[in-house]
Amino acid sequence: MFSRILIANRGEIALRIIRACKELGIETVVVYSEADRDAIYLRHADQSICIGPGPAAKSYLDIARIISAAEISDVSAIHPGYGFLSENSHFAEVCRSCRIGFIGPPPEATRLVGNKASARTLAKKIGIPLLPGSESILASEEEALKNAHAIGYPVMIKAAAGGGGRGMRLAHNDISLINGFLAAQAEAEAAFKDSSVFLEKYLERPRHVEIQILADTHGNIVHLGERDCSIQRRHQKLVEESPCPVLAPETRREMGEAAIALARAAGYVNAGTVEFLLDTNGKFYLIEMNARVQVEHPITEMVTGVDIVKEQIRIAAGEPLSFAQADVSMNGCAIEVRVNAEDPDQGFRPSPGKITNFFPPGGMGVRVDTHVYSGYTIPPHYDSMIAKLIVHRRTRRDTITAMQRCLQEFVIEGVKTTIPLHQKIMAEKRFIEGNLDTHFLEGMLPK
Ligand code: ADP
Repeated sequence: MFSRILIANRGEIALRIIRACKELGIETVVVYSEADRDAIYLRHADQSICIGPGPAAKSYLDIARIISAAEISDVSAIHPGYGFLSENSHFAEVCRSCRIGFIGPPPEATRLVGNKASARTLAKKIGIPLLPGSESILASEEEALKNAHAIGYPVMIKAAAGGGGRGMRLAHNDISLINGFLAAQAEAEAAFKDSSVFLEKYLERPRHVEIQILADTHGNIVHLGERDCSIQRRHQKLVEESPCPVLAPETRREMGEAAIALARAAGYVNAGTVEFLLDTNGKFYLIEMNARVQVEHPITEMVTGVDIVKEQIRIAAGEPLSFAQADVSMNGCAIEVRVNAEDPDQGFRPSPGKITNFFPPGGMGVRVDTHVYSGYTIPPHYDSMIAKLIVHRRTRRDTITAMQRCLQEFVIEGVKTTIPLHQKIMAEKRFIEGNLDTHFLEGMLPK
């Protein structure tokens, strides 16, 4: 097992990883930017190293600075968390050449599945269900038109390197296709320095259902069931739950097998998530694979009892998985809401600043993963998520009731948050009935 790990991330996930390391008896080194020098979790780490100014490009995304910190502190591995460098295969390669363990998949696997177009090609080869789409990257507007006509409108134009809902456009006709094609290319170039886009049939009113997998270096791969992440704004998740309230056991089994097959074909190791869209007939289609731990991993931990971050570390250290597929069971229901410092009444404008008062909810089956506290100032440089509120109970109905109580109890003053929106969602009849799709929030949001 590793003796010391460097955490190349910030916020709640940095604290989450510190917690896993402590329980495994591993020392932690956490890097931080000047904007995070007051972060409270720094005192829980054995060492903390400032790696540069607030903007991520000069700190959390700067490979040379992070590797220097790793060399100075003599760590045996780096945990990248999510976002930042977590899916950067070049970073994983640099770690490898510096003989530092990377707690994530090998760079070759990330390259293969991290690109949506190559993941589609691989999935097609092994017979995983896909939505109709273009065979490869679209070279020109003419090619985009030809493919759109073959697939039939509506279609989604998607960036191969896409993530975070960026580089995606919906097209209903030739005009919106051409406009969307150019806009998606430009957005993808700006966000990912890669303008490649492809087409996929647009599915009306799908659910987003994803499978958590764990793969060790000995060829064992298991899945930990699914998460329903249909409640989204601009293709970004806001509320997640496990299990998916409508998934038939047979479909869960098939989806799990498809996720494992994709991971195996890609030579995937460590924790990963295979994302699908589920149509109203219960058919599922692969959309992408995320080669890292996900924000919403705690709901899977709550229903399966598996500590995903500890498993990531054990896998990276070369240990075989300590359980088999037959040992995995899903118990009860867990829901997570993402509490963002944003103003839902102002188009979800980020609301950084000082939190004057903070008191998290508690009680049975309640977990709050957060790094903030009364008096904490949210820096403007990073993602606006400040807390994840996770509730686990035996039934979905009880989970929703407890979540409603927790949201009422949650005190966050000084900044605007998404708590009032979550209260509306939890009170909504369609949510209570489990009647979800990716358009759920439309009509509920202020115009
Ligand atoms: P990203 O990597 O940017 O998160 P994804 O491919 O995972 O992009 O898709 C994010 C969301 O966009 C999905 O959960 C779904 O709501 C929507 N989406 C993606 N592809 C399609 C599609 N073909 N049809 C309908 N909705 C889609």
